Amino acid sequence: MRKEYIEKQKREHGRKVIGTLPVHYPKELFTAARALVVEIWGPPGTPRGPDAGRVQTYVCPVVRNALAFLAAGGADVVDAMLFPHTCDSIQGLASLAPDLGGWDKPTLRFIHPKGERRQSSARFLRAELQQLLTEITKITGFTPSASDLDDAIILHREIDAKRRHLLEHRRHLPFSDLELYALLRRGEMLWPAEHLEELRAAEAKMTEQPAHSEVPVMITGYVPEPQEIFSTLGEVGAMVVADDYAAVGRRVPRHDVAVSASGLDALVEQTFLQPPCPTRGANESLRIEYLDRLFKQSGAAGLIIHTVKFCEPELFDVPAIRKHFSARNVPVLSLETELEPKLSGQATTRLEAFIEMVKSNARAA
Ligand code: SF4
Repeated sequence: MRKEYIEKQKREHGRKVIGTLPVHYPKELFTAARALVVEIWGPPGTPRGPDAGRVQTYVCPVVRNALAFLAAGGADVVDAMLFPHTCDSIQGLASLAPDLGGWDKPTLRFIHPKGERRQSSARFLRAELQQLLTEITKITGFTPSASDLDDAIILHREIDAKRRHLLEHRRHLPFSDLELYALLRRGEMLWPAEHLEELRAAEAKMTEQPAHSEVPVMITGYVPEPQEIFSTLGEVGAMVVADDYAAVGRRVPRHDVAVSASGLDALVEQTFLQPPCPTRGANESLRIEYLDRLFKQSGAAGLIIHTVKFCEPELFDVPAIRKHFSARNVPVLSLETELEPKLSGQATTRLEAFIEMVKSNARAA
């Protein structure tokens, strides 16, 4: 489906298409330069090619699968590939993919500063954005004006606002988790204006009264795969009311802080307004404060920490998150999965048992 969509975008709109590895990158620059971005989170399932075996067995499945996918020609339809500086594994992949895949397309890099905002990191980020924009325009052949960039910023702000609204008012959306996540994740490949239309349509279906009575849980993790996690939760009468997946809620900047700047300066400020993320070297205490606030505001009754196997950035914070919430008598489930298309029997059983525990805690309270 992705391939057909990409080909249609090229054919009907003359757009260049740039694939990207996770997680954070300035979407606005691509939109302003008229490039469609398509994200590659693996893809999930059995590696689609033999080159997965060319990296160490302790490398995460996102990178292993992506290497196999790229080397087997899975992304040949795109015009270039972006490798954000998410972790050492993606940086390694940026070197390996061209060698092993005979990848002869432009390779873009984007290094986001680690940690909180400092003058030096803001300056560094601005220079990175400028450099990336220059590289993108070489591919698209179109140099956006200042107002093109501001239009793209406004468009993505509206998309972010809608995504946050849907996530924060989850109980008023008459969708299953599976349906909501499918909608939100379509933003990983759709032309932004099309994604915005879908978000608007979903928002219009919000109800005055809560549309759900399931047991509410919060989830933090990397990427919502396998998606079966949501159908399993639904079957045992639970739903996600607060999301801190790197792929989803953690990429929506806060909009309670006004950004008066425009152009690249606005993108610099917005970057530092995103929820704390370990792939951007967020301070652990600030992250826990953020998660604590999200948990309380959402009214969740349990926390699921869903990590991808061998994902170092995510795993760094897990002990502290567990400790913080367990000390407050919040039921916590640590779930580590590969990048499978299906949830394992063991993971399903653990999820079911966890929700039973959350329910019995709620009854006892
Ligand atoms: S899953 Fe973790 S280790 Fe793997 S690419 Fe993503 S951030 Fe890096």
